[in-house]
This record gives sequence, C-alpha cells and structure tokens, in this order.
Amino acid sequence: MWDHEADVVIVGYGGAGAAAALAAVSTGAKVLILEKNPEGGGNTKYSGGSLRTYLDLDKAVDHIEALCEGTTERAVVEAFVRESSRNPEWLKEIGGEVVFKPPSETTSNIPITLPLASFPTIRGAEGMGPKMQIKGSGSAAGIDLWGVLSRKVAESNLEVLCSSPVKRLLAAKGEGVTGVVAASGDKDIKVRARRGVILTCGGFEYDQAMHLNYLGQSYFGMCNPGNTGDGIRLAAELGADLWHMNATAAALGYKFAEFAFGIRHRMPSAGFIYVDQTGKRFMDEMGTDAHIMWAPTSYIDVKTLQRTRVPCYAIFDEDTRVRGPLGATGQGKVSDVYQWSPDNSAEIRKGWIKAADNIADLAYQINVRPDRLQMTVAQYNLQCVGGYDPELGRSSNTLVPIGRPPYYAVEMRPCLFNTQGGPKRNSKAQILDVWGNPIKRLYSAGELGSLWHRFYPGAGNLSEALAFGRIAGKNAAAEQPVSA
Ligand SMILES: Cc1cc2nc3c(=O)[nH]c(=O)nc-3n(C[C@H](O)[C@H](O)[C@H](O)COP(=O)(O)OP(=O)(O)OC[C@H]3O[C@@H](n4cnc5c(N)ncnc54)[C@H](O)[C@@H]3O)c2cc1C
Repeated sequence: MWDHEADVVIVGYGGAGAAAALAAVSTGAKVLILEKNPEGGGNTKYSGGSLRTYLDLDKAVDHIEALCEGTTERAVVEAFVRESSRNPEWLKEIGGEVVFKPPSETTSNIPITLPLASFPTIRGAEGMGPKMQIKGSGSAAGIDLWGVLSRKVAESNLEVLCSSPVKRLLAAKGEGVTGVVAASGDKDIKVRARRGVILTCGGFEYDQAMHLNYLGQSYFGMCNPGNTGDGIRLAAELGADLWHMNATAAALGYKFAEFAFGIRHRMPSAGFIYVDQTGKRFMDEMGTDAHIMWAPTSYIDVKTLQRTRVPCYAIFDEDTRVRGPLGATGQGKVSDVYQWSPDNSAEIRKGWIKAADNIADLAYQINVRPDRLQMTVAQYNLQCVGGYDPELGRSSNTLVPIGRPPYYAVEMRPCLFNTQGGPKRNSKAQILDVWGNPIKRLYSAGELGSLWHRFYPGAGNLSEALAFGRIAGKNAAAEQPVSA
C-alpha cells in the first residue's frame, strides 16, 4: 500500500527542511525528505545568508513581539528567540562557523552607519544584536549556508527524494496525519509517516493569484520558482488556520522580460532619488530598511485608483553610474543566469537603463512629465546644498546631488525576498486548526506560516527556518507511532 515509509516525512528541502531533518535523525528516527525541484536549496540558497543575534534575549522577545503587532503569541516568539540564539553553536556542531556582519541592509551598498535594530524606536530594540553569516562568505552567503546544511544532510543517514512534489496530505480518523501523496515522474507515490509530517515548503512568491488576493498587489519573486504556496493548500485542506497572509519581505527590484524572476536593486553611490509616475519623490531612499519597501509602494491614489509607485524609477547621474553595478546578481542562483556589468554599460545598451543628456529627455523616456521631473531634481539638489530634506527626512550625509550628465533612469517594481503567510503554528511547531487545536502529527517550520508579520527586520527568516526546523524535527520524532 505504501511506496516509502519513514518515521518523519519532511516536505521541502530548504533551510527549514534540512534543520528539521537533522534534528529528527539525531534522535534515531528514520527520516525522508520530499523536494519538488530537481535539487534542494529553495530560497535558502538564493538568500543573503544573514542570521540574527541578540544582546539580551528578554528584550529581543519584547521587540519581536511588538514588531508582530499582537499577531504572534509571546510563547512562539520566546521559543524562536531562545532556540535561534543557539544557531551559532548548532551551525558549528554541523561543520559551519559564523561571523558578525556589519549592518547595511539599505537600498544601497554605501556603507552608512545604521543601528543594530532596523526599527530602533520600537520597544526592546536594544536587545537585538548584529547580523551574522557563515564565515568566509562574500555576497553568496546563502549558498555557503546551504553548503553547510546540505553537506551535513548528505553525511547523515536520511533519504532525500527530489523531483517529488507533495500533492496531498493523508490523514486517518483519530490518528491525525499518516502520510503524503507525491508525484514521482508520471505516477503518484504514497509515503507513510509513522510519527509525523513536517511542512517546510516555503512561501507563495510565484503565485500571482495569491499575491493579488492576500497581498493586494502583484510582486515578482527574486527567489526559488518552486515556492508556489503548496504548503498553504496542503494544510488548509486539513483545516489549518492561516496567519500573516498579508505579510512579505519585499524590496525594490527589476523585472526584465528576459527573466521569470526579479533582480534585486542596489545603488552604488548616493547621487540618486526615487520618483513615482508623477515625477515626485516619495520616500527616504537611503533610510528605509530594504525589507519593508512594500510599505511605500503599496500606495494607491484614491482618486484615480492608480498605483503611482508601481513601477517607480531611480534617477541618477554619470558619477553614480560609473561607481558600480545597480543589480545584485551575485546573490544565490541568479548568478547562474546573469552577471550585471560593473559600470552598467551593458544594461544601458540593452535598454534596461534609459540614458539622456538632460532631465527633460530622460522624463520623456519614462513617460513622466518633464517639468515635474526637472522640478523634483532641482529641489532635491537644493536640499543637498542645504543638507536638509524637510519632507522625507533623508539624512544629510546621504544628500548627494544629481550632478553631471548623462542622466539615467531605471524602472523598479516591488520584488519579494519572501512571503510570511501560511498555516499558524504554536511554540512546539505544531500546525493549528481554526479552533486553535494542533492538527495531530502535523508540524511546520520556515517561511511557510512564519511567525514574522509585516514589520520584518531582515535575517529573521533564516534564523526561524533553522530554529523552528529543529523544534519541529525533535517534536515530530518524539510522537508515538501511528497504530495502523
Ligand atoms: C534574495 C534573497 C535574499 C534573502 N536574504 C535573507 C537573509 O539574508 N536572511 C534571512 O533571514 N532571510 C533571507 N531571505 C529569506 C530566506 O531566504 C527565506 O525566508 C528562507 O530561506 C526560507 O527557508 P525555508 O526552508 O522555509 O524555505 P525554502 O528555502 O524556500 O525551501 C522550501 C523548499 O520547498 C520546496 N517545495 C515547495 N513546494 C513543495 C512541494 N509541494 N513538495 C515538495 N517540496 C516543495 C521548494 O522547492 C523549496 O526547495 C532572502 C530571500 C531572498 C530571495
């Protein structure tokens, strides 16, 4: 009746799946991972590889609870903070080592001094520590993190079946979840889970209908195309409650017709502004944490019902153009597909970046009224002279004028690092039904039903994937085996 059997079956082989599998196998359980793609890695491999540290655990709990705005129970936040504070030690145990990372998650790669907490005015911010990553990592820290995890999985006594997307969960009355149905080639296989199933199959970055329905606008994924919200459907079919469905970690990025995914935007110098389709600046371009860029771009003009900031444009000058690449293509697997030119010249030739000798001509190319754009640039340059940005509060040390021509514009859209929504979990990583009761033998970890809500400070998702992965793995392996 069953094609495969294991004590613990894990659906999705990214960071959370790997951590869950390693925790479960360390208890002596037989573990099987099913992965949809031909290889594992998920978003974890595409990521920047940053993890959280804390200076004071209790204050960090207060801070994260406040960022979640009452949507995440304190017990869940506590379990996360305490377990994720063990991440450095655990990564060392499995063959990796972590180093601190300077705080630099802005829109730009210009080294400006930022507070350790992305939201320093929120209660408990002083408990947050610097970010960390795997030692030796450069821009591909996510690949390095995945290297440590996947090497340990390969050395361990557990099985990974790739190209095996899970299509349904199986449940028996009184027993809870007993297994899964997965596709394997052109047939379906049934996999028995004696003790539990752990869903670690990521978010819905590549389901546009879910974006419109839950997030209220379209986004482009900058990550693993296999993340299509499958875990949400699997859990919902068994009555799971959903949480954080309206929450994302989203930045500005580029969506070119050549690629199915978005490319992360960065500016190599401070001589730039962002403008909307009316030619106006709308945010502090240098002082907004990259992960909550969805907030300004979710603006709707209530008279016209237009989203005048989607797309929006970065406007910059020649000095900025030659300072470095505007696209972060070194990250994750994007580097397999495209390498951005060091001085942006290839992207100008492709027409991705528009160029003109004056601001008015540039405005025509992006369909913005020339007088408006001219006025915005002139006003910004004047504020640079005065060192004061009264309306948007950009700090004086980042007020660099848009100086010598040619001038350039690049179109930007909201792009997803990840979504946070999915089945609600408790502090033991059990998935809860709509009445708040655990669905028997069903667990989750990672960004599928993340504890994070809308105000996400970066480095929290990978920390959660590893921490809740271990919690889920240990607890699922400790379940009594199904009787039948
Ligand atoms: C460019 C970028 C940079 C980022 N940088 C950071 C950072 O520095 N720090 C941080 O904390 N977070 C970062 N993130 C977010 C972070 O990478 C993710 O939230 C995290 O990797 C999620 O891990 P996961 O294991 O939950 O999911 P994933 O790593 O995405 O793994 C999910 C896996 O499940 C598989 N799957 C999906 N459906 C099925 C199915 N039906 N059956 C079987 N398998 C399935 C997928 O193919 C995938 O392999 C970044 C994201 C991106 C895109």
